[in-house]
Amino acid sequence: MIARKRRPPFEILFPEDAEWDATRRVFNLALDLRPAAIALPRNSSEVVAAVEFARDQGLRVAPQAAGHNADAYGDLADSLLVDLRHLQGVAIDTRAQRVRVEGGVKWEQVIPPLSDHGLAAVHGSSPDVGVAGYSLGGGLGWISRKYGLQASNVTAIDVVTADGQLRRVDHARDPDLFWALRGGNGNYGIVTALEFRVHAVEELYAGALFFEFARAREVLEAWLGLAPGLPDRCTTWCSLFQFPDLPFVPEPVRGRSFAVVLGAFLGDEQQGRELLRPLRGLGPVMDTFAMGPPAVLGELAMDPPVPLPLAHTSALLDSIPIDDLLAVTGPGADSPLVVVELRQLGGAVGRYADAAGACAALPGNYILLALGVPADVASAAAIDRCLRAIDNAVADYALDRRYGNFVGHPTDASAFWDTATWARLRAVKAAYDPDELFRGNHYIPPAT
Ligand SMILES: Cc1cc2nc3c(=O)[nH]c(=O)nc-3n(C[C@H](O)[C@H](O)[C@H](O)COP(=O)(O)OP(=O)(O)OC[C@H]3O[C@@H](n4cnc5c(N)ncnc54)[C@H](O)[C@@H]3O)c2cc1C
Repeated sequence: MIARKRRPPFEILFPEDAEWDATRRVFNLALDLRPAAIALPRNSSEVVAAVEFARDQGLRVAPQAAGHNADAYGDLADSLLVDLRHLQGVAIDTRAQRVRVEGGVKWEQVIPPLSDHGLAAVHGSSPDVGVAGYSLGGGLGWISRKYGLQASNVTAIDVVTADGQLRRVDHARDPDLFWALRGGNGNYGIVTALEFRVHAVEELYAGALFFEFARAREVLEAWLGLAPGLPDRCTTWCSLFQFPDLPFVPEPVRGRSFAVVLGAFLGDEQQGRELLRPLRGLGPVMDTFAMGPPAVLGELAMDPPVPLPLAHTSALLDSIPIDDLLAVTGPGADSPLVVVELRQLGGAVGRYADAAGACAALPGNYILLALGVPADVASAAAIDRCLRAIDNAVADYALDRRYGNFVGHPTDASAFWDTATWARLRAVKAAYDPDELFRGNHYIPPAT
């Protein structure tokens, strides 16, 4: 029971407050988050006050930036959700190619101004995602095969730790904590700001080749023949889209299904066309590839721009069982999913960068992400059956590792790391938060 005689020195909401339901809503509308209370600090001093308040009240602390991976938290009844939506500072140093953002900033506030200067961050597929949550979980983006995961591009972090201190951590100051934060999500404290490198993008050839859905097998086979030989400057995905008939879906694809190859090439059009020749030779019904500014990478994936009820599954794979996958989600399978996405990994994504953090690289050649939008109980059940069928279809090919940012349910997070990294993450947790004040969406227990 929270003592409420004195309001704390920051905005706080309780279940009886009028704004409670609107504030606890997150991107996945299927979620029903019920924390003990929600703190809405406006600066780092108020974050410190929120952490102290939670400790005094015997609550745990659950940090949240833009709320795209709250699914993994599970029961929050014992927790103060610290929602950082008011921490919105952004500072861009174009000459040094460095960006500093506060803890609640979304990628949509960073991508366009960087693009205006010919720069791009290692952001992901959706501009609506929070920079903090994405970066603290790894961060796999269109230019990761060239520049690594976003966590490896982070250069400094301001974080409020369990002792109530606001620390600036980097390679020199609290290096173990800096290492653990770059992969260990919200388990170590509340990040009030983070700084990262961004990259000059002089030329970008990007777009999508849309093929009739009936040709999914041909397209997948051609893509799988091509992808392994592409340079690190080029990243492609192959996706099976069944676009819903919803107003936010653009007219040419609304309510229709396609096999789509999406790609981003850091180079000129002539070289890009040459790399994609075998796929274009199959005769797409729509071809959107063109030279463009870095900002086009924010829209390329056609991720949903508005909150929706979502259910998904993912797997890291070395190879793709085409027959088994198409039997569940291909033409004629009557799949209820909106998209089955296969992203190409490799390049810098698979290499351990010097001085990288706890999420330094991802194993495997591909990552699968399958997603449905349940409209009611019956469609939720059908989507769940299909997602489980996908899990079964790829089970023999899936690695025993998972990518935490793509896991949206409570799970044993030790599967995200190798044994040595997991042990080090637990040791850092024991050093900085032995009483487990903080809970990340993916739980890392202290070493005992
Ligand atoms: C439409 C969509 C597209 C996506 N595309 C990609 C992609 O291309 N690549 C990729 O890698 N991932 C992608 N993701 C996954 C996304 O990166 C994760 O869901 C990420 O955790 C979301 O961060 P958030 O800040 O939006 O969410 P939140 O739910 O706010 O944050 C997730 C977790 O991060 C921690 N956290 C967040 N902010 C802080 C903070 N300030 N201090 C301490 N801990 C904090 C907490 O543990 C929190 O539970 C996508 C997700 C969606 C919904």
